[in-house]
Amino acid sequence: MIRPILRYGERALHQPASEVATWDDDLQRLIDDMIETMYAAPGVGLAATQVGVPLRIFVVDISVGRNPADLIVMVNPAFVERDGMQLQEEGCLSVPGFNATVVRPARTVIKGLDRHGAEQILEGRELLARAFQHEMDHLDGTLFVDRLRGIKRDLIVRKINKMKRSGKW
Ligand SMILES: [Zn+2]
Repeated sequence: MIRPILRYGERALHQPASEVATWDDDLQRLIDDMIETMYAAPGVGLAATQVGVPLRIFVVDISVGRNPADLIVMVNPAFVERDGMQLQEEGCLSVPGFNATVVRPARTVIKGLDRHGAEQILEGRELLARAFQHEMDHLDGTLFVDRLRGIKRDLIVRKINKMKRSGKW
């Protein structure tokens, strides 16, 4: 089932999520829905907070469904390593229509659990490193807009507020 994606400004998106403690059918359904919602958008990643569920889960697929082996489901992830730096344009399904250049690590290693609770350690470089960092941020209630500074951030926030006032957000 495709779930509605929350947009910048909606409270649940801006709050940190809690660790998953229970493995049940609801969790499996949530993960299936997140994958379906990500592909339908389409996007390269989706965090549970973006569908209003305050749990530390994200899905990523940098091939956007073209290569089944690229689908990653991460539960209760934590950073093991982060190094280097990359500067690329970035967007977010919760901030549709906006892009900005965001500083991210060039390489990340994260540790967490797969959808069945088995431990997994994954390394990401370039786009995958960026996706990991972006989704990890979501689990802490941080959006890429929050990582911008000064005029760039003000401009996006002002435009969003204007759209909100006219009912277009
Ligand atoms: Zn996002």
